[in-house]
Amino acid sequence: MFAANLVILNANVVTLNPKQPRAQAVAVKDGRIVAVGFNDDVDRYVDDETRVVNVEGKTVVPGFVDCHAHMTVFGLRLQALDLHDVAKLTVAELESACVKACQGAVEEGLTGVHWIIDSGEEMRTIQKLRLEGKLPLRVYVGVPAKLLDEAARLGLFTGFGDDMLKLGFVKVFADGFLRTGTAALKEPYSDKPETSGVMRISQRKLNSFVLKAHRAGWQLAVHAVGDRAIEAVLKAFSKAIKKYPDIKHRHRIEHCSVLNPQLIKRMKRLGLVASIQPHFVVSNSWVAERVGVKRARWVYPFKSLIKAGVVVVSGSDCPFKPVSPLLGVWAAVTRPIFKEESLTVEEALKTYTVNAAYASFDENKKGTVEVGKFADFTVLSEDPFKVPPGKIRDIKVEMTVVGGRVAYKRKH
Ligand SMILES: [Zn+2]
Repeated sequence: MFAANLVILNANVVTLNPKQPRAQAVAVKDGRIVAVGFNDDVDRYVDDETRVVNVEGKTVVPGFVDCHAHMTVFGLRLQALDLHDVAKLTVAELESACVKACQGAVEEGLTGVHWIIDSGEEMRTIQKLRLEGKLPLRVYVGVPAKLLDEAARLGLFTGFGDDMLKLGFVKVFADGFLRTGTAALKEPYSDKPETSGVMRISQRKLNSFVLKAHRAGWQLAVHAVGDRAIEAVLKAFSKAIKKYPDIKHRHRIEHCSVLNPQLIKRMKRLGLVASIQPHFVVSNSWVAERVGVKRARWVYPFKSLIKAGVVVVSGSDCPFKPVSPLLGVWAAVTRPIFKEESLTVEEALKTYTVNAAYASFDENKKGTVEVGKFADFTVLSEDPFKVPPGKIRDIKVEMTVVGGRVAYKRKH
C-alpha cells in the first residue's frame, strides 16, 4: 500500500460518475485520484506525510471548467487597467494580467479554462508561466483565426501540449452580437426592422477556412449568434466533414444563441458542441423585445439542445459577463425567461465538468471525481442540489484543488 498526498474526509462528494454518484472521501496521489468512497475506504492511504482535510460535510464537485473566457482582458480588468490593445502591453504587464486572471479564476472554483487569446504574446506568457510552475489551473488555448496559418505551418494542431497547457481550438467569427444588432438573423430585428444584422465573413471564405482548419487537425470554434450565421456555419462544417469524415473533430459553435428545432437537429447530426454562456439568459433579458417573442422562444434553448443529444458546454465570456461558474449554474437552473428551457442542477453542473472535458478531448482524464482521473475538484459551502435554486448563486467556493494541489482556499 502507498500513502496518499492528500485525503479529503467527511465530504458530500458529488462525483458525476453514474456508477458511484455520491461518496464521502477522496484520496489523491501524484495528482490523480486513487480512491473514492467512505472515510474508512481511504484510511489506509493515510500516513504521516499525508495532508488530511476534514471538510465537515461540505460538498465536493468535479472541478469547474470555463469553456469561453477572455482571460487576459479579465486580468487587465482585475487590475483596473482597461487597455483595449493588449498588443501594447509590456511583457511584465501582460504577465501580471495573466497571473491575476488565473488567481481570479481559481477563487471562483475553476480548475480549468478555455483561454481565448488574441496574440502570440499571450501564448508566450502562458507558456512561460507554465514552465515556471505558475499556472494554478489547466489551460486549453483558443487561437485566433489570424494565427492559424503560422501555427499550422509549424505543424501544430489541437492537442499539442501537456496536461496543464494544451493547444485547443481556432476561433473565427461568423457574425456579431445581439446587443449591438450585429448578430446575423434570417429575418429583420423586431426592434430594428431596417436591419437583420451582418455576417463578418462570406460563405465562401467561411467554407474554405473551416475546411483548411478541419483538414489540419484543428478543432474549430465558430462565433455564431444569429440563426443566419449558424446556418452558414452548419453549411461550412457539413462540407468539411463530408470531405474528411474520419477526423474526430468536436467542432464547436460559440454562443449559438438564436436557434430553431431544425438547426438543433443539424447540430446533433454533425456532432457539434454547443458552447453556451448561461449568464446571458439573465443579462440579456431584453432579448424578447429585440427578436420578438416567437424567435425568443428559441434563443438560448439549453434544454432543447441537451434533449436533442447535442453536447452542451458552458463558459462565462468573462470579463464581459461574470466569471463565476456557480452564477452560470444558477442562471441555467433559474432562468427568468422561457423556463421550459431551464436545466436541472445536474445538467448544469455537467456543462462545466463532464461535457467541458469532452470539448477538450479530456473525458478520460477529468470531468468526474473518479479513480484514475486528475485530482481536480472544487469544495463548496453548500450542496447545489439541496439549497433552493435561487440560493445557488450564494454558495461559496471553499477550496479549489488542481492536480491534488490546493490552488485556492477561502479565508474564514
Ligand atoms: Zn467571447
